[in-house]
Amino acid sequence: MPLTPEHQAEIDEQRQQTTPTLRATAPGMEKHLYTAQPVLDHGFVRVIDYMGDDAAICQAARVSYGRGTKSVQNDEGLIRYLMRHWHSTPFEMCEIKLHVKLPVFVARQWIRHRTANVNEYSARYSILDREFYIPAPDDLAAQSVVNNQGRGEALTGEEAERVLRYLQQDAMRCYDHYEEMISQEGQQGLARELARMNLPANVYTQWYWKVDLHNLFHFLRLRADAHAQYEIRVYAEAICAMVKDWVPAAYGAFEDYRLGGATLSGRALECIRKMLAGEEVTQETSGMSKGEWREFQGVIG
Ligand SMILES: Cc1cc2nc3c(=O)[nH]c(=O)nc-3n(C[C@H](O)[C@H](O)[C@H](O)COP(=O)(O)OP(=O)(O)OC[C@H]3O[C@@H](n4cnc5c(N)ncnc54)[C@H](O)[C@@H]3O)c2cc1C
Repeated sequence: MPLTPEHQAEIDEQRQQTTPTLRATAPGMEKHLYTAQPVLDHGFVRVIDYMGDDAAICQAARVSYGRGTKSVQNDEGLIRYLMRHWHSTPFEMCEIKLHVKLPVFVARQWIRHRTANVNEYSARYSILDREFYIPAPDDLAAQSVVNNQGRGEALTGEEAERVLRYLQQDAMRCYDHYEEMISQEGQQGLARELARMNLPANVYTQWYWKVDLHNLFHFLRLRADAHAQYEIRVYAEAICAMVKDWVPAAYGAFEDYRLGGATLSGRALECIRKMLAGEEVTQETSGMSKGEWREFQGVIG
């Protein structure tokens, strides 16, 4: 369960309270504020706060005095220009603060993105919940045979059942021992900061994560990509949906130039020019390695 009824009641109460403001607000984002978007079996992402909107990006780019919008069309064109030419600082004028609940092994990938501000739930001070990520049967995949960093088809039959059983039983046994070790009934009780080392990497943690839109796009570009691990990709996809509602023009440009676009090397461009001129180009004549050629074929379809 991503949220307890008490947590949900707290959120509902927060959403009842409104205050008038002179600050720019994004109607699309207001509907997401505080609400928890479930991800995986016990995780969620929710927006705690945000600053700026599409107009704020244009306002900064033009360094203007007013709210600055000449017209929605002008703004969209400017935002696309900024994105196309990697003029990134206007995007840094927008910020978002998220509350994320995620398995520790996902958090380990996520924390590699150094350009955010993070405050994590303290497992020295507090007791972690008995919540572990257990993949749905379809996500219990075999090791990929073509990509050492990827996964293949879902496990089936007895193997799938056994793996699922191990994951569930090991998590429960570790948590039983964790609870027993920290208990102060009839014993001193091991410090929480030590007892936690017994918990597996699929235990859930939580953090507040604040980042500007430029660095968020960088994160989403890497983690919403098909090559990212499924368990972090689903978080990135949930955030993409929120960003789309928050800054529709900026997200549209990001989707087009970054998520949907591709970077081509000089050699790849040369191959395309030759192909357009009707020349036959093969991997051997392209000057590219087999891997590069395969990726190039993937890009040009
Ligand atoms: C598919 C995939 C597979 C990966 N596999 C591995 C792996 O096997 N092993 C592994 O260790 N990591 C792995 N990573 C993590 C990856 O190497 C990066 O650490 C991670 O994606 C964060 O990217 P970043 O540094 O660009 O992001 P951020 O830390 O958010 O930084 C954003 C940008 O800021 C600049 N920047 C930030 N800090 C510095 C700095 N100290 N010095 C210079 N420039 C800085 C850089 O331009 C950087 O691109 C993988 C990532 C992906 C997406």
